[in-house]
Amino acid sequence: MIQQAANTSEPPFIVELIPSLLFVLVTVFIVYKLFGFFEMAYVEYIKKRLFYNHFYFKKKTLNKEQRFILSKYIKLYNGLSLDHKVYFEHRVATIMNTMEFIGKGIEVSETMKLITSATLVKLTFGFRDYQISSVERILIYPEEFYSQTNKTYHKGEFNPAYRALVMSWKDVLYGYEIDDDNLNLAIHEFIHAIHFYYMSVRRKSTSAAIFLDSFQELVTYLDANAVLKTNLVSSGYLRDYAYTNQFEFLSVIVETFIETPIEFKSKFPKLYSKVKLMLNYNFNGY
Ligand SMILES: [Zn+2]
Repeated sequence: MIQQAANTSEPPFIVELIPSLLFVLVTVFIVYKLFGFFEMAYVEYIKKRLFYNHFYFKKKTLNKEQRFILSKYIKLYNGLSLDHKVYFEHRVATIMNTMEFIGKGIEVSETMKLITSATLVKLTFGFRDYQISSVERILIYPEEFYSQTNKTYHKGEFNPAYRALVMSWKDVLYGYEIDDDNLNLAIHEFIHAIHFYYMSVRRKSTSAAIFLDSFQELVTYLDANAVLKTNLVSSGYLRDYAYTNQFEFLSVIVETFIETPIEFKSKFPKLYSKVKLMLNYNFNGY
């Protein structure tokens, strides 16, 4: 007697699901691409503004001691709304978890990790694109270090080939302890790294588009206003090093903007508003 074979023509449940899964994936991909396309068009042709900035499935948190260190050193953090503080902490925790910290003749402390991570977070807080691939590791020396790149002693440097920021801790701290002299080593070096990263993703990142296009507008505006340019240089408000090249100009103008916004706004209001737009910095105190 021949036994009736089990019905093998029915495909397993998971196989039946494949077309639906593919449909969902393709739809999500198309929506994602369309979103990117429309946001970039909006930023380039209508207004330099992101459709949204903060959205996280699961937010990382900092402990009480870590929050205390943030509030001690990062003025911007103290002025944020409660919601924004939560986003700020999430971003700092994310950077601290993904960044490699290397002490060179010094033990890396929690404060070092927090301050350096929070510097990146504060500079990119107006943007969605804050996890810059141009820096994967931060090397910390106790003080000035001998740089093999150009055979001199440095306080800090950004090394794109090694995807590293190298900084003297003494000078990072000095930058934060004296917070109104328009000198902040960590801000200076991170702006070089952010600039470099955004240049590499300009076509796909709306954050990069806002930052780079605004900077270009700022430079063009200065070039077209000889009197303003002369006034800016002769005022000495930006230290001389700013005029070394466009990269240094960018870093120094951001250091100045972050440290003395009220003075900047009153002395050079047009330039101030261009830097504010460049960083999308709509926060308390700016
Ligand atoms: Zn520099």
